Amino acid sequence: MEYRQLGRTGEKVSVIGMGCWGLGLSEDRGEWAREISSLQRGVELGMNLIDTAERYSSGRSEALVGEAVKECRDDVFIATKVAPPNLHHDAVIRACRDSVRRLGVSYVDLYQIHWPDPGVPINETMSAMEKLVNDGLVRYIGVSNFSVSETDDARATLAKNEIVSNQVEYALTNRSVETDILPYCVREKITLVAYSPLAHGRIARAIPGDIVRKYDVTPAQAMLNWVTRNEQVVAIPKAGDIKHQEENASSIAVRFSAADYQRM
Ligand code: NAP
Repeated sequence: MEYRQLGRTGEKVSVIGMGCWGLGLSEDRGEWAREISSLQRGVELGMNLIDTAERYSSGRSEALVGEAVKECRDDVFIATKVAPPNLHHDAVIRACRDSVRRLGVSYVDLYQIHWPDPGVPINETMSAMEKLVNDGLVRYIGVSNFSVSETDDARATLAKNEIVSNQVEYALTNRSVETDILPYCVREKITLVAYSPLAHGRIARAIPGDIVRKYDVTPAQAMLNWVTRNEQVVAIPKAGDIKHQEENASSIAVRFSAADYQRM
C-alpha cells in the first residue's frame, strides 16, 4: 500500500481507503459479518483510511466499523461525517458524541461536514468543530461536497485549525472536480478524498484492453489507479465483497505511464 500525507498534517493515510456507505443496510446479520470481515481484510492489507457517516444505514455503518476495528483501533484512521440538519453548534457536538459512541472509540481521526447547508452560518458549525478538536473528540477537520468558495469561507472562520480534506465525487466517468476543486486542493495542500471512484460499481467498459493487459489489472483496478494518479488524491471505494477489497488494495501496485493515463 502507498500512503499520502493528509493535508498539511504529518498524518499518513492509505491512497486506497475503504468507503462504508451501505454497510449494515440489510437486516441480515450474516451480511454484516461479511462486511466486517471485508473491512478487517482491508486493514490487514494496509488500508488504514475508513470512511463512514452518521447518516449511513442510520448509524449502523459506524457500529459495524467500530466492531471491525475494535482490536486494531490504533492502526486505522477513522473518518466520519456530520450531516445536515445537525450543523448548528450544539447539534454538531451531540452528533459527534453519538458517532463516537456508535463507533466504540474515544475519538475520531477526521470529522467531516457531509454537505454544506447555506441555512446555517458556517462560522457556527466551524466553531463547534474546533471545540471538538479542543476537547479531544476529533483530531482533524474536513469537509465534503464543498465548492471552492464554500471551502474558502469555511477556512476563513477557523481560529486554530485547518481544513485538511474535501471529500467529493471523482471517477474516470465523472471528472467535474478537475475544473476547479482539484487544482485548488493541489495549490492549498488539501487532500481530495475521491468518493464513488468506481462509479457506484458501474465499472467503465471503455478502458482500453491493452492497458488492462499491459499492467495486468482489472478494469476496477485501472479506475482506482487512474483516479489516484495525482499526489493530492486518495480514493475510498466501497467493497462489501472481500475479493473486491483485495483487488482494490492491490490496484496501485504498479503505476501507469503518463501516456496511458492520458489515453484512459
Ligand atoms: P463506489 O466505491 O464507486 O462503488 C461501490 C460498488 O463497487 C459496490 O457495489 C462494490 O461491490 C463494487 N466494487 C467494489 N470494488 C470492486 C471491484 N474491485 N470490482 C468490481 N466491483 C467493485 O461507490 P460508493 O459506495 O458510492 O462510494 C464509495 C464511498 O464513498 C462510500 O462508501 C462512502 O464512504 C463515500 N461516499 C461519500 C459521499 C459523500 O457525499 N461524501 C457520497 C457517496 C459515497 P461490493 O460491495 O459487492 O464489493
